[in-house]
Amino acid sequence: MKDDKSEQLSVNTIYDRLLDAYGPQHWWPAQTPFEVMIGAVLTQSAAWTNVEKAITNLKKAQALSPGAIRNMPFSELSGLIKPSGYYNVKARKLKSLVYWLGENYSDDIEQMSAVKSNKLREELLAVYGIGPETADSILLYALGKPLFVIDAYTKRIFSRIGLTNEDDSYNYYQKLFMSNLATDVIVFNEYHALIVKHAKEACNKKPVCGGCCLSQICSHSGKI
Ligand code: SF4
Repeated sequence: MKDDKSEQLSVNTIYDRLLDAYGPQHWWPAQTPFEVMIGAVLTQSAAWTNVEKAITNLKKAQALSPGAIRNMPFSELSGLIKPSGYYNVKARKLKSLVYWLGENYSDDIEQMSAVKSNKLREELLAVYGIGPETADSILLYALGKPLFVIDAYTKRIFSRIGLTNEDDSYNYYQKLFMSNLATDVIVFNEYHALIVKHAKEACNKKPVCGGCCLSQICSHSGKI
């Protein structure tokens, strides 16, 4: 593991290199904050292309609103989101999320956004089906709160580089980014999106290290 100064240098250097290599990613691909919230649940263990199909189904059924999802029969909701997989579990998660939104914030996302990040994060984590990655995705991408999102791609890339161990906790990873980057929603937004891009383009299960923009600073370059 690196000392604090070189760790900070690495976290910032990696961001610069990824941004140079791939450019801005324009995340999150959604039209409204509520759509981001729904997408954040549907993308659990699902490819984004399948999430898009589920969201399109909701839009066609005019069901992409808290009230519509709350009032819709469970079987109809699970049918609409079927393309995203685990549709019965995810339908239950969506119902829980919209009931929470209605009971606590009268479906008003601006009202929800006025709550301090840490308190809102605790509230979201208490909702059925919302774990740290989903909560932070909602906070960052729907509400513009400065929380860094950690996912399996982040763990894979940064452990290969040598900054972490893959089994380090979510909180450990989040602290690595949040203590070494300036608190900047735009950077947090872009960095996570770039990590996802890099995991798909180069650092996938069988990494393509030749030509990787991080190969000069990666301790696993060419070893896998
Ligand atoms: S050099 Fe290879 S292992 Fe390292 S980040 Fe790039 S693709 Fe991943």
